[in-house]
Amino acid sequence: MHPIAKLDHAHVWHPFTQMRDWLQHEPIVIVEGKGAILQDAKGREYLDANSSIWTNLHGHRYPKINQAIQRQLKKIAHSSALGLANEPASLLAAQLIQAADVGSRTHATQAAHAKGFLPRASSENPKLEKVFFSDDGSTALEVALKLAYQVTLRQRGKQPASKSARGPQPKFITLDGAYHGDTIGAVSLGHIDLFHQAYGGLLFASDKAMAPYCYRCPFNRAKPERADARTYRQCHGECIDTVERQFSKQKKTGNPYAGFVFEPLMQGAAGMIPQPGGWLRQVTEIARSHGALLIADEVMTGFGRTGVTCQVPDQILGEVSRQPAAVKLFATARIGLVPDFLCLAKGLTGGYLPMAATLTTKAIFDRFLGKYEEFKTFFHGHSFTGNQLGAAASLASLEILQTSKSAQNRTQLQSSLKQALPALWALPNVGDIRQVGLVAGIELVKNWRTRAPFAWRERAGIRVCEAMARRGVLTRPVGNVVVLMPPYCTTHGQLQTMVNALQESVAEVFNAK
Ligand SMILES: *Cc1c(COP(=O)(O)O)cnc(C)c1O
Repeated sequence: MHPIAKLDHAHVWHPFTQMRDWLQHEPIVIVEGKGAILQDAKGREYLDANSSIWTNLHGHRYPKINQAIQRQLKKIAHSSALGLANEPASLLAAQLIQAADVGSRTHATQAAHAKGFLPRASSENPKLEKVFFSDDGSTALEVALKLAYQVTLRQRGKQPASKSARGPQPKFITLDGAYHGDTIGAVSLGHIDLFHQAYGGLLFASDKAMAPYCYRCPFNRAKPERADARTYRQCHGECIDTVERQFSKQKKTGNPYAGFVFEPLMQGAAGMIPQPGGWLRQVTEIARSHGALLIADEVMTGFGRTGVTCQVPDQILGEVSRQPAAVKLFATARIGLVPDFLCLAKGLTGGYLPMAATLTTKAIFDRFLGKYEEFKTFFHGHSFTGNQLGAAASLASLEILQTSKSAQNRTQLQSSLKQALPALWALPNVGDIRQVGLVAGIELVKNWRTRAPFAWRERAGIRVCEAMARRGVLTRPVGNVVVLMPPYCTTHGQLQTMVNALQESVAEVFNAK
């Protein structure tokens, strides 16, 4: 065994890993990366088919980001954000606000108003103006959660509850299967039972809204076809009515939902669950009309992952809303939606360093203004808040994203993915193929005609990914859904290799049984 692998086995405890299984195999030790390629300690090369767990954007060792970090290193790596400002963090905050701006009235909302679909007051977009920095996706969500909680209490004229004077607590609603991170607040917002059970006693309750999981939706009367379930589903959008009823019911308790937390356009760790056209707009309208703050978790979907421009078929509008030439980096921006909180992490630094940001409005910010002794301060922060190296890397990454070359590459990669994926329908164990922009989930089933799922103990997703690794392609499944999320620099040929490896691996794993 490689000496580094030995040290790992001796001392390193890996995240989300059954360490008994881990200790039975020599781990791959990554020593280098370039573009979409990772190299291990034995000199073997792999394609990074999940962008190093959804973080990397432009590829590894990207010259512009390397240079930005080196330049910053000549000045300083880190200084505290407690009592001090710094250059890269301030510049980054301004850039993020600009990137998240969709303009006061988008084409989509204008068209909707013209057709009388959206009640004006509730669809008026707020403007994101303030940025709270933290370290990773979980903390970005934790910040939004704490802010929304306090704002709601203040709005209701309540002091943060002392234990004795506790009334009904502000309550949050999130999507079925949601994953928003691993800190206690973020886990409380999640609905992955496996993680919930382990910490039940530590968590607060949040409600579960029906996710638009067309492939396994009880309202979808369509028989399985060899196509993305969104395209052939037969339903009346009952999932949206369900959400509406839930909001109404909660309102009647006198404690309406304080916030609606969601991943826009596609839920990641829930199983790469894409939202059918119009769903996001409608449910966010419902949430807003019931007074809930919108907390968009774009930790996975942000920075171009869901597509390049503003062209999302929207069934409310019955047309494709277009903002020509406008490159939109966020899924919410792509449908002209501005949430009250926009949570960013994974790709923020281009996948180089741990850094996160929670964007919010002046209205929220102003609620925390007051005399020192009123203690309206937001009592929250991290040692590395506003890290200078991370901010420098992020600035370089944003600059790359905004070039037309990057937009072109991403458009090309998206269409390569679209071309390559249909070959997988030939496999009887592929039940659903779900692509949104530059990310795809391939759901493995026992039999596509019945949609029968594999049992956990069959480790179907894991076995396929292990077989892919033997073919030089690295990714991880979420349950029985294999994820393809290539770095934006991935060539057409490299993408084809990824899809071929997946195809061969599925055939090998399930035919060999
Ligand atoms: C990964 C992820 C998180 C948590 O981010 P960490 O950086 O792992 O804490 C939160 N939300 C979504 C949607 C994610 O994909």
